Amino acid sequence: MAELTVIKSPWFDDFPALNTQVYEKRLRYLDTAATAQTPNAVIDRMTRFYQNDYASVHRGIHYLSAKATEDMEHVRTQVSDFLGAEASRNIMFTKGTTEAINLVANSYLRPLLSPGDEIIVTEMEHHSNLVPWQLLSEFCGATIKVWQLNKNNELDLNDIKDLISRRTRLISVTHLSNVLGTLNSIKEIVSYAHKRNIPVLVDGAQAVMHQKVNVADLGCDFYVFSAHKLYGPTGTGILYAKSRHLERMVPWEGGGAMIDQVTLPMGTSYGQAPWRFEAGTPNIAGILGLGAAIEYIESAGLDKIAAYENQMMEYLVESLSQVNGIEIYGNDDNRIGVVAFNMKGHHSFDVGVFLDRYGIAIRTGHHCAMPLIKKLGQSSVCRASIGMYTQSSDIDALVQGLNRINQLLR
Ligand code: PMP
Repeated sequence: MAELTVIKSPWFDDFPALNTQVYEKRLRYLDTAATAQTPNAVIDRMTRFYQNDYASVHRGIHYLSAKATEDMEHVRTQVSDFLGAEASRNIMFTKGTTEAINLVANSYLRPLLSPGDEIIVTEMEHHSNLVPWQLLSEFCGATIKVWQLNKNNELDLNDIKDLISRRTRLISVTHLSNVLGTLNSIKEIVSYAHKRNIPVLVDGAQAVMHQKVNVADLGCDFYVFSAHKLYGPTGTGILYAKSRHLERMVPWEGGGAMIDQVTLPMGTSYGQAPWRFEAGTPNIAGILGLGAAIEYIESAGLDKIAAYENQMMEYLVESLSQVNGIEIYGNDDNRIGVVAFNMKGHHSFDVGVFLDRYGIAIRTGHHCAMPLIKKLGQSSVCRASIGMYTQSSDIDALVQGLNRINQLLR
């Protein structure tokens, strides 16, 4: 397949940054898992807000403020429909995945935790889905239990059986690994956990851009993601929470927009969900940008994007495996969007810096997943990741670069 394939993305021209020159070379952007490039539709929507419609939300009675409020609340409905949530009130705007997880830790779990209670996390989590639980456990005297990966570096449901106890209060698991690209069997995990009355949080940061997600179908209690991985802007994210949890969650951050009545010295009462979890002026432009991103990918069609990306991943893995001395991590039968690798005799940082000089952007390091990198027996790995705009020529450039490393850096 590798030698006869030219695969061009029908969406490439929608992303202006892809025409950037880096060191006088055409940019080859293979770092989508860190952040996805932004299409014109999103840039235009945010520009239009700043140029024509700019005002703050919620507190104004004037025309522009009312319009900004209406437009922002429309995005909440869009996100709710996009995720298949019960209603728009189950959707909270946050700064990103990280803040959404911290919100669940503090608003949902903190009031329920007693010393000796347990939280289960997996060995393949991003630090954003580890550290908030560690901080909380330290504060409440709870214990973190680690669901380790099997020899194929995957989660095996049999291995969680010994971890679960009557003190387990939450399982927090990624939908898709940001290092291995492994898609986890969330439905099975949720079904197993729910039989034991244990809620499940799913970190969807890497999953939402690659496939259709439906929280009702997954059955999860919480689902979180960041707009910037979904072709939207940075600084905006989403927490979906099931209604029965929403009722029990307490406000975490205090400030404007989340109150009902404020009295002194005490006695303040709070507004309704979801606004009671959104203190302060939100990232209005970012939220509108997220709405435009959802509209954009829905009009492209998530099924079409997934089919295109599958083809590209096949090409990427096959091309990479022809490079001398390459070691690819993860499971060939279960890998979406990202591929992690190292080259024998070359440190990943050297590989990354060398490729950069040819305009090829990959990521190197621990990828905010130190426990997983350790499990792989490495201190650092290279990661190439794709999006709807990646083309076979980008992968050809990567492979050429890696072959050059083998020739030049001995
Ligand atoms: N979880 C996963 C799986 C991720 O890939 C990332 C981003 N790399 C995060 C969480 C954190 O996302 P953010 O920094 O946008 O909050």
